[in-house]
Amino acid sequence: MTHDDPSPATGAPAAPASPPMAPGDEAPAGTPGTGEAPCRDCGGTGRIDGRTCATCQGTGTVNVGIGGA
Ligand SMILES: [Zn+2]
Repeated sequence: MTHDDPSPATGAPAAPASPPMAPGDEAPAGTPGTGEAPCRDCGGTGRIDGRTCATCQGTGTVNVGIGGA
């Protein structure tokens, strides 16, 4: 049988345009219902033991969902 793939893509996944996110981000910056909060891993300094915090990628803040109304 032949493939019945409607997509002409040559292997590249059709990923939607997504802004860069730090591992600690729960949503891209600017997402309604989310906001920046101090990174829990580095306490908002952006660094841990003199090294760039991987969770917030050195920004000191992460974008997380804001609970409550
Ligand atoms: Zn951090």
